[in-house]
Amino acid sequence: MKTDGRQQKETGPRMIPVVDLGRCSRCEGCIEIAPEVFRVNTDTACIEVIDLPEYPIDKVNETITYCPEDCISWEH
Ligand code: SF4
Repeated sequence: MKTDGRQQKETGPRMIPVVDLGRCSRCEGCIEIAPEVFRVNTDTACIEVIDLPEYPIDKVNETITYCPEDCISWEH
């Protein structure tokens, strides 16, 4: 059985990336890695997660590993 992200999505709970804005330094590294997931909110100038039906698990995991403030996580 395949165990890629899509398979996990169909069988597990929906996973949504979240940013702890209290710790975010707005370095925008997450946007560089996954511009399809993260963007700057033009009103608040804070990082926000784009509303997607599903998220690229490997890409988001990469941002979690990279984030210098350790403020990105998965919410189930
Ligand atoms: S990588 Fe982390 S600290 Fe940098 S903007 Fe993204 S969430 Fe904020």
